[in-house]
Amino acid sequence: EYKEIATPSRTKEILKKHGFSFKKSLGQNFLTEPNILRKIVETAGINSQTNVIEVGPGIGALTEQLAKNAAQVLAFEIDDRLIPVLEDTMSPYDNVTVVHQDVLKADLVTTVAETFREEYPLKVVANLPYYITTPIMMHFLESNLDVQEMVVMMQKEVADRISAKPSTKAYGSLSIAVQYFMEASVAFIVPKTVFIPQPNVDSAIIKLTKREKPAVEVTSEKEFFKLTKAAFQLRRKTLWNNLIHYYGKDEETKAWLTKSLEVAGIEPSRRGETLSLEEFARLSNQLEANKV
Ligand code: SAM
Repeated sequence: EYKEIATPSRTKEILKKHGFSFKKSLGQNFLTEPNILRKIVETAGINSQTNVIEVGPGIGALTEQLAKNAAQVLAFEIDDRLIPVLEDTMSPYDNVTVVHQDVLKADLVTTVAETFREEYPLKVVANLPYYITTPIMMHFLESNLDVQEMVVMMQKEVADRISAKPSTKAYGSLSIAVQYFMEASVAFIVPKTVFIPQPNVDSAIIKLTKREKPAVEVTSEKEFFKLTKAAFQLRRKTLWNNLIHYYGKDEETKAWLTKSLEVAGIEPSRRGETLSLEEFARLSNQLEANKV
């Protein structure tokens, strides 16, 4: 009788067979609820014409569900002890490629080109190691991969930050960095009780869909992201204080900032977290246009 990997009994059996012990430092919390995994696959809209990248397959609980639905699955796993486990658990599936590598060090474009036989839409689906959620998200956004959709599990608090709207406590440079490229929403919440070992916090599945073009038009993406980081450095200070703190307090810089704010129609006394993406774009474009 066949049992899915994610069932608690099969998971325990696999861990025991391979003498596996969890490494907290690698963010190893394995999902043991097949229904949640099926819901993730459904949310991501995976079908036989989808290529999927997974980060951190663990013993293959999610990988199995992806393999059953996708054209091919490419999974990056850092822990060498899990490679023979995955060889065992993934043996029924011929469309899974496990790469033993730190995903942050992976040349994603090359590996994708070498792995996938067909040029199907590419999606990232993962239960992320929580200690590096933001670096992993940035690694994918900053790669030149054409990722159509990301459906990933993370700490609820980070999911809230990524999907936050202006003038909320969670809104910050991470919200802007992601929402510039992708439309973001929280799909559903996952209680900590369905993992072994149990993490300390609840999790959320976030769904990111690539926009046809970035959310706003900017003359320089680099300067735009610099500005959004600068605006949130001192959280309780005004936009003006953050700007002079970052760009400089000399008269020439102040005149440049004042003029740019004025033309962009943004009050210097506002707080950074009240500015929308459009307003940040307007200000960034003025800073570029008025550069001395
Ligand atoms: N996908 C499995 C599941 O849902 O049960 C395991 C998820 S667990 C939260 C995170 C996985 O990421 C672990 O298997 C861990 O070893 C792996 N991992 C941690 N850091 C990594 C990195 N830098 N690159 C690739 N995998 C990593």
